[in-house]
Amino acid sequence: MNIHEYQAKSLLKKYGVAVPRGGVAYTPQEAETVARELGGPVWVVKSQIHAGGRGAGRFKDNPEGKGGVRVVKSIEEVGKNAAEMLNHVLVTKQTGAEGREVKRLYVEEGADIKRELYLGMLIDRATGRVTIMASTEGGMEIEEVAHNTPEKIVKVAVDPATGIQGYHTRKVAFALGLEGKQVGSAAKFIQAAYQAFVDLDCAIVEINPLIVTGSGDILALDAKMNFDDNALFRHKDVEELRDEAEEDPAEIEAAKHSLNYVKLDGNIGCMVNGAGLAMATMDIIKLYGGEPANFLDVGGGATKERVTAAFKLILSDSNVEGILVNIFGGIMRCDVIAEGVVAAAREVHLHVPLVVRLEGTNVDLGKKILAESGLPILSADNLADAAEKVVKAVKEAA
Ligand code: ADP
Ligand code: MG
Repeated sequence: MNIHEYQAKSLLKKYGVAVPRGGVAYTPQEAETVARELGGPVWVVKSQIHAGGRGAGRFKDNPEGKGGVRVVKSIEEVGKNAAEMLNHVLVTKQTGAEGREVKRLYVEEGADIKRELYLGMLIDRATGRVTIMASTEGGMEIEEVAHNTPEKIVKVAVDPATGIQGYHTRKVAFALGLEGKQVGSAAKFIQAAYQAFVDLDCAIVEINPLIVTGSGDILALDAKMNFDDNALFRHKDVEELRDEAEEDPAEIEAAKHSLNYVKLDGNIGCMVNGAGLAMATMDIIKLYGGEPANFLDVGGGATKERVTAAFKLILSDSNVEGILVNIFGGIMRCDVIAEGVVAAAREVHLHVPLVVRLEGTNVDLGKKILAESGLPILSADNLADAAEKVVKAVKEAA
């Protein structure tokens, strides 16, 4: 789960991470009120969307080509720029071409930036440790830095048994070219961010840019936090920060039915039980020249209701031109699944080719139910056969 920049800054601040003062605003009037409270003389009006690259982003309908992060010098300008951003669609490198509508703003005091640096933390699956990444190339996307100048990124892994130590933070501070009292403030900053990362079960904490101000202070000018969904149950306060408007409606709907659904860019919808089988199904669709429209794991106990919900989800994606159902009936019986598929196909008035591959308990009865349903369901015997049939059916229907 992701949260907004202003929410991340507020969480990090509680742990002792230094951030500029600011306040959230939902209207231009609120933005002006926040600006007045902050006092100025320089303010930054920042679009709050769950995507980075806002500064370099562009609003779809702003002919002047102004970005999603703007530095202004009067209260009046705060209001004017807020009005230009709120309820307008911002397109950044990370939003895709369709962009995101800005519904909240963060009005922050303008910082006197001397240097822009990068600090990130994530779980490195190879070492099983929280890894701190730092770079002098702040403000740029770390993926770009990693690609073009990987030597400019320093990585420090923290052993969970020792936790973060002075030598970790010093290594990062020196790699960032910090000196004197900055080394001490950076150590405090990094330790605080690390504590937040561990306590809140984060998957990513990214401060880009981390800045050194004219007076030598260290501040988080941007903040991104991503949380491990599996640990959210023990962080109700974090879960309350969820902004459903920023999430894919199909994925929210899927979560309601305990379906694991991830939308992809292809045209062949997949309904599979088990994450491993779902991945294998996507692979084999690609092998036969097709592109999966989604990953969908209906889980072990796929009832008729869940199968119907899954069909509706798959069909809510207008790119879908065919569906492949691939179910192994181990705990579930194939006849029950077949009944679910038939009922669901009727209920949603299925209008695209449907290929079903069933295997497992009561498979013959399951196939009989599909065959006698009167629906144009193509039955397949194995994975390869199923993938070949659905790719062919989609091509023929096009
Ligand atoms: P994004 O990464 O989405 O573009 P940032 O919060 O990193 O958004 O802002 C982009 C740039 O805007 C920063 O790199 C910094 O140069 C500038 N900026 C952001 N916040 C402030 C601030 N409070 N004061 C001065 N400049 C800022
Ligand atoms: Mg940034």
